Amino acid sequence: MTITLQHFIGGMWHAPAAGPTRSVYNPSRGHVLAEVPEDDIVGANAAVAAAVDAFPQWAATPPSVRARVLFKLRMMVADEFDRLAALVSREHGKTLSESRGDVQRGLEMIEFACGIPALLQGESLRGVAAGIDCDVEREPVGVCVGITPYNFPAMVPLWMWPIAIACGNTFVLKPSEKTPLTSVELVRMLDASGLPKGVLNLVHGGHETVDTLLTHPDVAAVSFVGSTPVARKIYETACRHGKRVQSAGGAKNFVVVMPDAEIQPTVSGIRDAAFGCAGQRCMAGSTVVTVGDAKSRLMQPLIDVAAEMKIGPTDEPANQPDMGAVVSGEHKTRIHDLLRRGADEGGNVVLDGRGVSVSGATGGYYVGPTIVSELSLENTLMNEEVFGPVLCMMHADTLDQALDYSSASGYGNGASIFTSSGRTANEFRRRVKAGMVGINVGVPATLAYFPFSGWGNSFFGDLHMQGREGVMFFTRAKTTTQRWFAPDEGDIWRR
Ligand code: NAD
Repeated sequence: MTITLQHFIGGMWHAPAAGPTRSVYNPSRGHVLAEVPEDDIVGANAAVAAAVDAFPQWAATPPSVRARVLFKLRMMVADEFDRLAALVSREHGKTLSESRGDVQRGLEMIEFACGIPALLQGESLRGVAAGIDCDVEREPVGVCVGITPYNFPAMVPLWMWPIAIACGNTFVLKPSEKTPLTSVELVRMLDASGLPKGVLNLVHGGHETVDTLLTHPDVAAVSFVGSTPVARKIYETACRHGKRVQSAGGAKNFVVVMPDAEIQPTVSGIRDAAFGCAGQRCMAGSTVVTVGDAKSRLMQPLIDVAAEMKIGPTDEPANQPDMGAVVSGEHKTRIHDLLRRGADEGGNVVLDGRGVSVSGATGGYYVGPTIVSELSLENTLMNEEVFGPVLCMMHADTLDQALDYSSASGYGNGASIFTSSGRTANEFRRRVKAGMVGINVGVPATLAYFPFSGWGNSFFGDLHMQGREGVMFFTRAKTTTQRWFAPDEGDIWRR
């Protein structure tokens, strides 16, 4: 019998309220792995109540003691690394090596959070006025909520809760209903690391559960990662309810290839950027713009390398493909629909992955590498985030024109250029409207110590996930101004 996943509230596992459920699939085969409640408002409210109760004591716990829990978690995640990576592959469909990357990026967030005693140190200035000193300290904000997407089941939740709880907050996580199993496992490990009850809570559910958390009067901050329409809704709703919000959305990342680019590293960089994780990455290099004669040099080698990719199930460690399935049958149908519309509107499908068949895994949700060229800015494929193994291609006569194309998308997560000219690279870095820039790098995703700095419709809010911006988001400043009453203090100013 398939199990229905439980919530983790106040340090205990609880069965969700009776009601309809949704299936969690192994995309490699189409098998059901578990059920999650469609929604559970009672569970969401109980999780916030547990986080409220736990907050005062946890906020008063020394940062070094909070860090110690995370050090233990860090060791457990490292010890269980392969098992966690296999779980990510099983519920998401990405290859084991991609899942290892997912867990590794999350592990680095835990390691970053272990440094919290240093990260939380304040600022002070003596003698700001006669006999007066000023100190700024960072305090936790209270109960924080995290809502996460399906595509990085380990990394994205770990962008949020380790640093939030290290800062002294308590947390309610609502993982993706499509890939909740990795979060369940990580919470089990944290529980075994000695975290006090109620500091981290996990509730399953969909829109109504999220809406309950967003509007709850006891929630201070909301961290969201997902598609742009939902990111915008989360930002607007949570702001209206007085929360601080960081809300990361979808993307359309441009990769510009200049005529002087070295072809072999450019082709492998684009292959990984476009087809890694079957294109289900917010930093996927989903659109290539060739400039000048880069088109004639790039096209055939790119088609050849994409056509050679081995597609298949990722749940057998011994026999890994180059690319796995997409997350669901519904998502596969959406990708097919977008491709049909893109072709009807003039796109030239030079490599078509719609017909791919995988023997021994016929129930899986496979789309092979697909390349569509001759696209215009008006084409549906240029206006929708496809989020599948579909590379869109455009051509420009100049770098100026390529930059105009990239700005027109309205997103601004990442953008890359392949060139052997330092001058061109610098010009691109200066002018491109994206928060993460790659130079001869296809996926310029930043690591834990730097902000994940999306712009435009890829991010709503002020302070990004990761790095010091993450610490700022999960803390607020308290400034103390203090007069000293010693007899001689301040005299020089009065003379
Ligand atoms: P999604 O927006 O469908 O869902 C994300 C989360 O929001 C889930 O937990 C879901 O339950 C919840 N949700 C969905 N619709 C909602 C609604 N109407 N109201 C309230 N909550 C709702 O995203 P997804 O399909 O799970 O993930 C893929 C998307 O995430 C892509 O667009 C990708 O680019 C984006 N993403 C962005 C980043 C980034 O850093 N910018 C990182 C990873 C993924």
